[in-house]
Parts: sequence; structure tokens; C-alpha cells
Amino acid sequence: MVMCCVCGRVFRGRNRHQNLSTHMRIHTGETPFPCPHCPYRAKRKAHLQMHLERIHSPRGAASTWRDNHPPSAHHLPPHLPLPPPLPLPLPRSPPSLPDPQLPTATSPHHQKQ
Ligand SMILES: [Zn+2]
Ligand SMILES: [Zn+2]
Repeated sequence: MVMCCVCGRVFRGRNRHQNLSTHMRIHTGETPFPCPHCPYRAKRKAHLQMHLERIHSPRGAASTWRDNHPPSAHHLPPHLPLPPPLPLPLPRSPPSLPDPQLPTATSPHHQKQ
């Protein structure tokens, strides 16, 4: 087993050295996974993936980010007001149906070609 010389955490298993080196980034401040979208840097790839999921994905954005990593919203221009809603187009009046009371052997609506 290997032990962290800083905090004494013990790592066992086949990947103990890998786990220890990953863990040591907590103490060294090494952040090898920078976010491509903002200055955020993650210590672990899973953290970066979680960050991308929560901060930069359309469904995760603007929901759960905390003050440890605010997106640079204050650098963005303010949201433009939405244009006024366009008036709904009037429904087209239905074509004049032949008077059902008159005998209509031929429909004049379909006669013109
Ligand atoms: Zn440690
Ligand atoms: Zn980011």
C-alpha cells in the first residue's frame, strides 16, 4: 500500500500509485483538466465532465452552479428584450362552399383549371 505523505490517506489495490498521484493533486493544486469554455480547471476528469454537464450543457446551465465557479455572466451583454410577439395571422376564410340547399351537380370550386 501507499500512503499520502501530506494527509496520510492510504491507497491500496492495483491502481494505488495512480490513485495516489491523482489524490496528490488535491495538495499540489495541480489541475490538469482545464475547461475549454471558461477558466475553470478540474483536478479530475470526472470533475471536469461534471462541470461541463452542469455548467455548459444546455439543460444543466443556469441551474446549479455555485459561487465557487460562477460563469462569466457579467461579461456577457445583457439579454436583449424579446421582440413583441407578432400578431397571429388571420385564419384564411374557408372557401365559399356551395349553398347546400341548391342542387350542385358540379362543384364550381373544382371546375376552374
Ligand atoms: Zn493527501
Ligand atoms: Zn467551464
